[in-house]
Amino acid sequence: MTRSHSRRREVKAIFFDLDNTLYDYNFSSDYSKNKVFSYLLNRYPHLKQDDILSSYEKIIQDAVEEETKGLYGAWDRQKRFSRLLLSLGLKDDGLSKKLVTIFAEARAESSKPYPETQDVLSKLKEKYVLGVITNGPSVYQREEISLLKLEAYFSHILISEEIGFRKPEKEIFQIAIKKAGCRPEEAVMVGDNLGEDIEAAKNLGMKTVLFDSKNRFTKEDLAPEERPDYLIRRLTELLDLY
Ligand SMILES: [Mg+2]
Repeated sequence: MTRSHSRRREVKAIFFDLDNTLYDYNFSSDYSKNKVFSYLLNRYPHLKQDDILSSYEKIIQDAVEEETKGLYGAWDRQKRFSRLLLSLGLKDDGLSKKLVTIFAEARAESSKPYPETQDVLSKLKEKYVLGVITNGPSVYQREEISLLKLEAYFSHILISEEIGFRKPEKEIFQIAIKKAGCRPEEAVMVGDNLGEDIEAAKNLGMKTVLFDSKNRFTKEDLAPEERPDYLIRRLTELLDLY
C-alpha cells in the first residue's frame, strides 16, 4: 500500500479555517473599509485619509483585544462606525447606519471563495466529514459563509462566539473532533495561521496543513512546535494529500 493510501485511510475529518484559507479575507476587508473611507472623504473633504485609517485601526485593535477575552460586542459594525465618527469629531445623525450599509454591500461584492475552493471542497466531501473552525462573532462569520455559498460543504461549523472558546484554545478543536466522531489523529486542520490553526491542532495530535499562498514560510524555517505536517501553496494540493 502506498503512503498516500495509508494516509487517506487514517483520516476521517478535515477542518478548515475560514478567513484567508477559503477566501481572501484581507482583500475583502480592505476593499470594504476603503469604500467607507471614500464615502467619508467625499462628504467631509477636510478629513485626512491617514487620520481615518489610524482611528479605524485603533477601533479594530480594541475589538481584537476584547475578543481575546471572549467579548465580541466591539465587532458590531454600527458600534465600530459610531466610534469612528466620534473619534473624527463628526456628528452621527444616522451616518453610522449609512456606513454599515456601505460596508455590508462592499463585503457582499468582494467576498469570493478562491477559484479552487468549491471544487476542492466538493471532492473532499465525497470522502471526508468537512468542517469549519473560525474565530469571530457569530453574525459576521455566518454572513460570510453564506456570502461565499459554502454552507452545503460542511457538516460542522464552529464559530468561536457560539462555542465559547476560540482558537488557539484546545477546547474548540476538541469539540470539533467530538462532533466529527473521530480521534484527533483522524482529523486534519487546514489553516493559514501558525499559532491559531497549526500549533494548537498539532498539540492535540491532529494532523495539520499550513495554507501559505503568499509564500511567507518554508517548512524548514518553522520552529518544531509550529511545523505542520504539510505546507501547501494552493488548496488543490489537498487533493494530492487526501
Ligand atoms: Mg485565517
